[in-house]
Amino acid sequence: MRVAQGWERSTILVRMGDLVENCLHSEGLRISTGSEYRCPLCAESMDLDGVGRWVQDAERSRDEAYSMVEGDGFGEIVREELQREVYRRRRVMYELENVPRMMTARPEMILVIYDATKASYGCRIFYKEPRPAGVVEQVDVGAAFERILELRSDPDPVVRLISEKVEEFHAFRSKLAAGGAPAPERRVFYANEL
Ligand SMILES: [Zn+2]
Repeated sequence: MRVAQGWERSTILVRMGDLVENCLHSEGLRISTGSEYRCPLCAESMDLDGVGRWVQDAERSRDEAYSMVEGDGFGEIVREELQREVYRRRRVMYELENVPRMMTARPEMILVIYDATKASYGCRIFYKEPRPAGVVEQVDVGAAFERILELRSDPDPVVRLISEKVEEFHAFRSKLAAGGAPAPERRVFYANEL
């Protein structure tokens, strides 16, 4: 069945209108409590299945546009726009799917270097290759127990691990210094100590 062009156009506009009226979560989704993800703009919250349905909604809009529109210039623009939206939502979903892996990434080695001029510890964190995306690679912390312990409440488990290891090294150095012995300025923690 062939549908008149005027009708097609108004239908597409109505569909686009529907999309715009609902929040497009255009800034992506953030990790919220538990397994929920949250839009920072409209505060809608959904789990990963919900994110999957959100991707499917965009795919459906795109497929409908393909089945409705004849090859005119306007239809082309609409289709490209809807396709871009599909890609954008998929990208958001893939990134969220990768988060759990990122959170559980264990460092392979941690290098802690004491910087006397800054009175702080610089930590470099190394991971097995291929290095997971978005992981923390460097942490600097003041050489004082209270500074180090502040990291204990960080949401990133790797930062909490850093806090533990730096505390251990700081305690060791403090003990030596108290006894008048020179304290080492660097310490490497290997996987079996982490
Ligand atoms: Zn939103």
